[in-house]
Amino acid sequence: MAAEHAQQVREGFTALYGTEPDGVWAAPGRVNLIGEHTDYNDGFVMPFALPHTAVAAVALRHDGVLRLHSADMPSDPVELRIADLAPETADGWTAYPAGVVWALRQAGHEMPGADVHLASTVPSGAGLSSSAALEVVVALALNDLCGLGLKRWQLARLCQRAENIYVGAPTGIMDQTAAACCQAGHALFLDTRDLSQRQIPFDLAAQGLRLLVVDTQVKHAHSEGEYGKRRAGCEKGAALLGVDALRDVPCDGLDAALDRLGDEEEVRRLVKHVVTENRRVERVVSLLESGETRAIGPLLTEGHASLRDDFRISCAELDLVVDTALASGALGARMTGGGFGGSAIVLAEADDVPALTKAFEDAFTHAGFTAPRVFEAVPSAGARRLV
Ligand code: ADP
Ligand code: MG
Repeated sequence: MAAEHAQQVREGFTALYGTEPDGVWAAPGRVNLIGEHTDYNDGFVMPFALPHTAVAAVALRHDGVLRLHSADMPSDPVELRIADLAPETADGWTAYPAGVVWALRQAGHEMPGADVHLASTVPSGAGLSSSAALEVVVALALNDLCGLGLKRWQLARLCQRAENIYVGAPTGIMDQTAAACCQAGHALFLDTRDLSQRQIPFDLAAQGLRLLVVDTQVKHAHSEGEYGKRRAGCEKGAALLGVDALRDVPCDGLDAALDRLGDEEEVRRLVKHVVTENRRVERVVSLLESGETRAIGPLLTEGHASLRDDFRISCAELDLVVDTALASGALGARMTGGGFGGSAIVLAEADDVPALTKAFEDAFTHAGFTAPRVFEAVPSAGARRLV
């Protein structure tokens, strides 16, 4: 399927620009297995790559012009002068790839110009990080074509700068690192403080397991403001506790920390989630490394309860997925991503998948919600050159 997608994008490039691309690259979307809202607290995350990818055909040009086109957006190519790129000036989707070129240039790398045509199978706005896939695929292509020799983690950093500063979205480092660094059959254990990482075996099929992504297709309007509030509350918690970040509160020091926070009820809840969530990531890592994949199920479910009750970023649709999954025999389930909509993940025995899929449909119909989109997430490869 990847080869077919690559061929289509290559042909699209030629039809659009009238020349052959210099190459074709891919970068995946991701699901975060566990470690939610820990990234801006210097904590642990554990994403894995989806088989869904953004694929870009790219050719260098030498006149300082950047042309951008997406097969998924019905418009003519957008033409920009690289020397004129400036944060928060670009409109719409082109801000992501343009931001990458801007960030590379800001880091001192000469950008001669490029024609880009891309197409993505990563669902957009579903919490599966279609934006990082776009950024990383362009960054990797330019790294290769311009011979920059940047490492994967460095590309991820530059893509994060593109999204934070150029696009103006305050995201952590997880999404870009996942797209750049994940490996097939593995989840990526990432320490967001020092960016150290470890590939953790996560070959579900070999153990008769499946991981379902249930995209509720809802996005509740207040999500961005709520994200900002959670972030500010976590920073307040760290300040009150006298630590650089909540990552520095050990799990066995949680009760003492909560005592110190006194009647700061809201902050106490946020701190409790972040501290216990970091611990859950470490426990999932050790279970997976000892081959006890089924045993991570209850930790996923605990993580959901913490996000729902303490961090308070779930919603009726996400809770319905989790409750339905558990009632229908799943090993564990949790919301994933920023919250207030987007997707949930469900760990299940392979044999139970048809019954679960039906149960989600029935439960959503009964509740009067739009049917969710359910698909299987196979831990897949990170960014790579296809052609
Ligand atoms: P997520 O990363 O969770 O999917 P974001 O809001 O961060 O959600 O990113 C979605 C945005 O990324 C879209 O609004 C669009 O600007 C851009 N995008 C995603 N996929 C494509 C695509 N195939 N073509 C062009 N732009 C895309
Ligand atoms: Mg995004």
